[in-house]
Formats: sequence, C-alpha cells, structure tokens
Amino acid sequence: MAHKKTIDVQAAVAIAAAEAIAAKTQGTFGVGGLMLDQHGNVLQSLHNNVIKDGLIYDPTAHGERQLIDWYYAERAKGRELPEPQDITIVTSLDPCCMCSGAILAGGFNVVVAAPDKNAGLNYDSSADFHALPKALRSQASASFSYPAILGTSLYARASTGATPKSFFIGKTISEPTQALCSLVFEATSADVMEMFNTDLPQEVLKDPATLPASHALVSVLKQHYPDALTYRCKPHQPDAGLAPFLKQAMARDREYGGAGDAVALLDSFGNLLLCMPGRTAQSGIRSAFMETTRAYAQLRYKLMNGATPEQQNEVRHYLGHPKDGTFVFAKGPDASAVSFMNLGAYGSTMEGPLPLKNPAQFQYVQPSLPEAELAAVCAAMPPLYRNIIRIRPTQVADAALVSALV
Ligand SMILES: [Zn+2]
Repeated sequence: MAHKKTIDVQAAVAIAAAEAIAAKTQGTFGVGGLMLDQHGNVLQSLHNNVIKDGLIYDPTAHGERQLIDWYYAERAKGRELPEPQDITIVTSLDPCCMCSGAILAGGFNVVVAAPDKNAGLNYDSSADFHALPKALRSQASASFSYPAILGTSLYARASTGATPKSFFIGKTISEPTQALCSLVFEATSADVMEMFNTDLPQEVLKDPATLPASHALVSVLKQHYPDALTYRCKPHQPDAGLAPFLKQAMARDREYGGAGDAVALLDSFGNLLLCMPGRTAQSGIRSAFMETTRAYAQLRYKLMNGATPEQQNEVRHYLGHPKDGTFVFAKGPDASAVSFMNLGAYGSTMEGPLPLKNPAQFQYVQPSLPEAELAAVCAAMPPLYRNIIRIRPTQVADAALVSALV
C-alpha cells in the first residue's frame, strides 16, 4: 500500500480497520495500523501477528511495535524517511503499554481509533496519561491523538489528546468505522488471550536437561543460544553462576549500541534457556527483554509449526510457557519509555495471571529505581497489567550475583 495517500483521519482509520479484519481472519488480535509521512503518504500498513497458524508466533508482534521496527529497519537499509516527529501512526486500537513505550521511545505521533479499557494507555479515556511515569506524560499529551467520533451512539466521543498533524484535513472518525475497530478487537480478544493459558501446567513439565544432546529440541535451542542448558540453579533462585552469562550478553549489548542490558530466561527447573543482549543500534526498541521474549516464542513456534501432534506435545512438555520460569534482567526497570515498553511487553508475554506458586517470575540484578518507586510505576499501569497479570518485579535474592554485576 506504499503508493497510497490519505489526508483524512477517517480514510486512514478505515485502512487500519481493514488490517484489523485481516488480523481476525488470521486468528490473532483484531488490530491493525499504518504509518504515514508528513504529507499523508502511507509508508506501511500491517496488522497484529501475535498468533500465526494457531500458535503463538510472537507476543510482541502488535501493529504499532512492528511498524516502528519496520521504520528503523528501512532506515538501516539506507532509505530516506522523515524523522519520527514527522511520522504519524494510525491504529485501530488504543496502544498497549508495550506499544506506547515504543512510540514514546522513538518520538512518533499516533492517532487512535477504538479504546481498550483493559490494556490501553488511555484505558479510562481521561487522556491525562496517568498510567505513564510522570516524566513521560507531557510527551504523550503532545503526541497521542484521540479524534472526535461524531454521533450519538455509545461510540461517540469528543476529541482529546493532541491535535492530529496539520496534513490531515478531515480530523474525525465516523461511528461505523469506530464501531468496526472496537467490534473486530472484541471478537478476538478473549479467544487469543485464552491461547496463552492453554500451555501445560508446571507439574507436568519435563526437564530439557534430561534430553540427549543429539535431540532435535536441544539442537534447535542451542542454535538460538549456544550456552543453553549449561547453567542451572534452584528453580527461581538465580545465583552468581549466572553472572558470566549476563556479563557476556551485557558486553554484546554495548557493542550493539545499548547501555549494557541483558535478560536471561530460566525455565521452571532452573535451566538457563536464553540470555540475550538488545539490538538498539538496529532499532531503538529492540531491547534485551524484547529480544529474549521474542526469541523464546519464535523458538517454540519454529519447533511446533508443521510438526505432528506428538512432536508438538513434546515441545510443550520440555519448553514450557515463560510464566512458569524466570526472566532475569541485568538492570531493573527505570522510569524511561523503553522500560515502560519492557514492562508492557512482559505483560504481552503473559497475557493472563501469573501462577501464584511463582511469585518471583520477574527478577532483576541491579536496581535502577528504589523498589517502592518501581512498584508505583507498575501499580499505575492499566488494569490488565496491575489487576490481572499483577506485574511484580523483584530483585534477585542472591547477594553474590548482585555484587558480581557491579
Ligand atoms: Zn501493543
């Protein structure tokens, strides 16, 4: 659709709605979006890709996040594109915390159609952005637009937030288009979230460290991360033995343009599965957590897609959902847009309540914020994150691991 041009909010939202319908057909969250330059040229349009072929493909593959990574990938190839402050993303649904963090980290503008009372940044329609850390709210007020829906139905609303960029001549959305954006999402939301909760319970999971090194599952795991299964701790209790793996990834993160972050994923037996750096030189939103959660989901997808039911069953037994394991961040979240994106992406990885028997699912080694401040950031997030998933980052208990990363 790269040759199209639209100077009308309604026409742009209609493209996003068509993408949302395509997403529903694919069996994923019914959300779509597009990216426009400062003249209204459509640079790219796409839809949610969290689910493909009936499997979780990538929990971070929301429309807005993919558009931003697409933008940076195009620029890296040498394509001349306007600066993010001249770019507008139009989305059929209010951005979640991951996508909002990505939009703010890049400095893009966004025009939003349907609200999302559960996970949307503007979940209460106040447009005061109190779900964000304080320092990010004025940027959101200046870049997030909620155009007026003219009419008298429950979809009608006054415009709030920023004024859409001046190339937009028409600045309103029609009721039927807004209703379509809402209904397509509502028609998919419960089913897709349910897919995140069909994974096997921890009690029946099997230890991948018991598989022979020649097993296909082990070799695919080691292709993604050669050091997989070479470290093991007590379940959910990372110790100083994890430090060399984190330090190696932190060094690579600096090489790749980051500030030295790294995230490890341990399974429910305490096995190290992955430990990844970010790739921020390629895209400012490719943080270590985004890389790690995506790599694990795509690893499972690759092993399961096209496999026999028996093979799929084996993958599900040996590579459980990350909610039963532990993510270990080298650096704890701070109040930045990238950290907010990471917290949101963590929520998108879980999509449902964390198992009660695993309260320390999200751990960090070095704190970036005092514990109470970090808890306040999490407590202000939209209802999905604070009431359903209950994101609760905690510092690792092992003092030797903490001092090893100083
Ligand atoms: Zn999102």
